[in-house]
Amino acid sequence: MKIKFILIMLLISCLLFNITGCQNHQHNQKSNEPKVKQENSSIITPISNYNYSQMKKQINKLENKYDNIQVSTIGESLAKRNLYLLTLGNGEKGIGVVGGIHGRERITSLLILKIIEDYAKNLQDNKDIKNYDLNKLLNHVTFYFIPMLNPDGIEITSNGIKNEIKNKNFYLEANEGSSNFKRWKANGRGVDLNKQFPANWKQVESENNPHFKNYKGPKPKSEPESQALADLTRNKNFKTVVAFHNSGNIIYWYYNQKGKQYKQDYKLAKKLSKENKYKLITPEESDTIAAGYKDWFIKEFNRPGFTIEVGKGKTKQPLPSKYLNKYFTENRTVLLKLAQNI
Ligand SMILES: [Zn+2]
Repeated sequence: MKIKFILIMLLISCLLFNITGCQNHQHNQKSNEPKVKQENSSIITPISNYNYSQMKKQINKLENKYDNIQVSTIGESLAKRNLYLLTLGNGEKGIGVVGGIHGRERITSLLILKIIEDYAKNLQDNKDIKNYDLNKLLNHVTFYFIPMLNPDGIEITSNGIKNEIKNKNFYLEANEGSSNFKRWKANGRGVDLNKQFPANWKQVESENNPHFKNYKGPKPKSEPESQALADLTRNKNFKTVVAFHNSGNIIYWYYNQKGKQYKQDYKLAKKLSKENKYKLITPEESDTIAAGYKDWFIKEFNRPGFTIEVGKGKTKQPLPSKYLNKYFTENRTVLLKLAQNI
């Protein structure tokens, strides 16, 4: 009786083993099938809670895939994150394009990288973009892209303060006691990088101490990030610059220009506005005591500079990355229009 029972149990376990063994075998066969190659898939896609290390991976992939993109750095943030510079083109005239200046505006970093990928791919395939002869334009200009000027601020909005240079109390105080850091605009020590440039800096309204927004710092270019951007702008002798921010679907272009320069800059601004359908901010509406990057550029070099605010309305936290394709479609040709007219 006992032996019979053991034999039956053995038979059952053998059957079970065979079935599962067979299933495993099938499973292995499946995973050994060659994967379909996705050569045409994009590197730059919407990523929720986008951060610095994700950007780093994307930049590596772009660099490996496209010979026409040169990757370098213009320095480091306070927390020693790279300030990446990607260049595209062989032309004499330099155009500076910067994003990720404010912590909560990481979508502008993705937008710039998506524009780079689009231009690099079409250039490689020898294709025009709409009516723009990319090959011809990029023999005339070189784009200098800084997709993320403020990696520390962006990390603070996406991952909180644990990997940052100051202690918890510093950040809590700068954030008015709140531990929700999604609204953070400043860099890693509470300085607003777009209030850092020597254009009416003394008169600029500011918080008195490090703050999640609107603290201009102890002096112009006191931060490594704003200093690096100013140095690059001067060294490469940019003919024009674009700073991407969010939001408002608007373009700032005015900073006390007069006479011929006013007319030229206004004309160019209208052309850009025709491309992305964003509203131009009038001289009356413009804040002429702002110490922003484009303000300083216009004042210092007497050349056209633009701030483009993507996204509708006002926002106090990062815009969802699902809007990336929309902003890309809107702004795809803006920089090409600029290249054509510089
Ligand atoms: Zn901004």
